[in-house]
Amino acid sequence: VLIAFEGGEGAGKSTQVRRLQEWLTSEGLVARATFEPGATPSGAGIRSIVLDRAHTGIAPRSEALLYAADRAQHVHDVLRPALDAGEVVITDRFVDSSLAYQGAGRTIPLDDVRMLSRWATGGVQPDLTILLDLPPEVGLARARGRAVADRLESESLEFHQRVRQTFRALAEAEPDRYLVLDARESPEAIAAHIRVRVAELLSG
Ligand code: C5P
Repeated sequence: VLIAFEGGEGAGKSTQVRRLQEWLTSEGLVARATFEPGATPSGAGIRSIVLDRAHTGIAPRSEALLYAADRAQHVHDVLRPALDAGEVVITDRFVDSSLAYQGAGRTIPLDDVRMLSRWATGGVQPDLTILLDLPPEVGLARARGRAVADRLESESLEFHQRVRQTFRALAEAEPDRYLVLDARESPEAIAAHIRVRVAELLSG
């Protein structure tokens, strides 16, 4: 079973990934938490290039290819083996992040990003995607003060609004495969909603 977390900056994904993994483990399941970009050794190299884009001067298409390369390696090294072993895999970001950031954010046609992602993943898809949704103003304020703050400030508010709208549109197009939560709720309340939905998924 593959569960993906998606959302903009400061949505609290990593907190919820950790909480979900802890809960599943306490329920006696083998649950693995992972993330994009950068969860593999070669991916870590890619991460430093793409997240330092202000210095590396990376172009949108080249950025899209690097995220796809990171994802292909992530699927090959981590996701595919864990899923084949019957584990519950929780990933902090997946294909939807590329549709939102490389597609809507950097204005590459969504269908191109979709095609590239499908090729990179070999068709691996989340069984459930949890979108932690919040207005970018709120998320950016939360993320400010972290080490990533400089990079975040380099994108316009409109960029982050396009990212948010794309996540929401993807969720609306496939309501059965998405759980959309208001990331302004308390971490406890969000974790509780997630447990209910994941329990349903695992029992179905
Ligand atoms: O999830 P995390 O905050 O670690 O993601 C790091 C950054 O990478 C995000 O802030 C986002 O700007 C960027 N990103 C991206 N395209 C992706 C995944 C992440 O631009 N496909």
